[in-house]
Amino acid sequence: QPVLLWLRRDLRLADNPALTRALDTGQPVIPVYLHAPEEEAPWFPGAASRWWLHHSLNALSCALTAAGSRLILRQGGSLECLLQLLDETGAGQVIWNRTYEPALIQRDRRIKAALKDRGVRVESCNSALLFEPWTVSNKSGEPYRVFTPFWKACCAKGLPDDVATLPESITAPAHWPVSDDLKQWALLPRISWDQGLAQRWQPGEAGAHHALERFLAHGVLTYKTGRDLPGQPGTSRLSPHLHFGEIGPRQLIRACQRLQQQGIGTEGSTSVAAFIREIGWREFAFHLLFHFPQTPEHPLDQRFEHFPWRKPEDYADDLAAWQHGLTGIPLVDAGMRELWHTGWMHNRVRMITASLLVKNLGIPWQEGARWFWDTLVDADLASNTLGWQWTAGCGADAAPYFRVFNPVLQGERFDGQGAYIRHWVPELEHLPDRYLHAPWTAPASLIPPAYPRPRVDLGASRKTALAAWEQLKEHS
Ligand code: FAD
Repeated sequence: QPVLLWLRRDLRLADNPALTRALDTGQPVIPVYLHAPEEEAPWFPGAASRWWLHHSLNALSCALTAAGSRLILRQGGSLECLLQLLDETGAGQVIWNRTYEPALIQRDRRIKAALKDRGVRVESCNSALLFEPWTVSNKSGEPYRVFTPFWKACCAKGLPDDVATLPESITAPAHWPVSDDLKQWALLPRISWDQGLAQRWQPGEAGAHHALERFLAHGVLTYKTGRDLPGQPGTSRLSPHLHFGEIGPRQLIRACQRLQQQGIGTEGSTSVAAFIREIGWREFAFHLLFHFPQTPEHPLDQRFEHFPWRKPEDYADDLAAWQHGLTGIPLVDAGMRELWHTGWMHNRVRMITASLLVKNLGIPWQEGARWFWDTLVDADLASNTLGWQWTAGCGADAAPYFRVFNPVLQGERFDGQGAYIRHWVPELEHLPDRYLHAPWTAPASLIPPAYPRPRVDLGASRKTALAAWEQLKEHS
């Protein structure tokens, strides 16, 4: 009797606990991927995520074929598809790795119950996290709301680095059920805006391992300082691979621990530790989303429900300028253009662009979160929600509201030579360094006419934001 292996956000063969469990049964394994975007409502996968998914499924399908197996694709309600496949194949068991978004948790619970009712054996495993959200709590048994004690508690448990090996082959069933043609799912854009994504990324498990190898060879040992410089490839760029489960955090911990055993010196060691800590932030994001499932739409700090944001009809033009990298603030525009062209943005620049939107332009953070959701290849409900609420100052572990990023100072500090800005904002290529981060201060004859004037006065808007915050504090 075959086993259905339901693949979801675990598009890999190595270190895939559900696959290992399926192989352990000794039965033939039928790997399936079900396309049911409406089940993720209201957070349907965005355009950049769909692009990634298409290519990742292609890669997975090839890897499965090389292992003597196949990837069966079906579109429709997940429960209906599974029942149909059970019926067609005579399988008696379904195994999957867990997901943690609120809508998917509800869906999986429903499916588990319905399958069990019909006598189907169901098993779920953890492929995505070092610590599932219900396994970590503070002394009073409550979820953590602050990162440092959360991560300390995790580290005290010991970071798991046990990694299941890559199976050599996967036993095939006597008869394969038919599969959809991936192209019919129309995940790729109809107008081709995706050249930049194709140049930058290699979706799939092999691409994830190439990215990791590159980072281990050229980035991780200087990560502590390199991670703040957007003009240099100082971070791993593993986020989309992690989101789609093409690589898992245990594999990263294992790779880091191997390095640490090699005598990498103090800078190397602190850098590797800093990288592991960022993996911890990802864990924390899942912890928060699981325990506070309302947060993708609502601020965790409820006082911010009453924040006096501008109205959509008043901010529509500013929002569009921000989205398209035309705010007239160079570092912000560089980041927004990097996002549009490559589907990714450097972490420091994410914080700076988000801060400008929320604090200087007075636009609700949910607008920014939605734009990132549609344009990021690593769009992830947990990390995106944490990042936006952190920057807006309304989350669990939030930067205090009064901390407003100054994009001019940030640019001078982290992109001093302007490599990042000049790359993404070529209109400013010839502007001398001393004006590059604030072109409006340059003599009129030097200001490139093609580049917009700043849409907002950074100093005045900062004061307005702080005044609104003071009022909110007084009235709550
Ligand atoms: P590295 O620096 O190499 O870090 C390694 C891994 O650690 C990352 O791949 C990621 O999985 C994790 N990580 C690092 N920083 C964070 C963080 N602050 N929060 C959570 N996990 C982290 N990350 C996403 O994966 N998806 C998102 O949708 C997302 N939206 C964000 C929105 C805002 C406003 C902000 C400020 C941050 C957001 N982040 C998001 C977090 C972070 O910017 C990215 O994870 C990081 O830039 C990815 O690049 P990297 O893989 O090179 O990171």
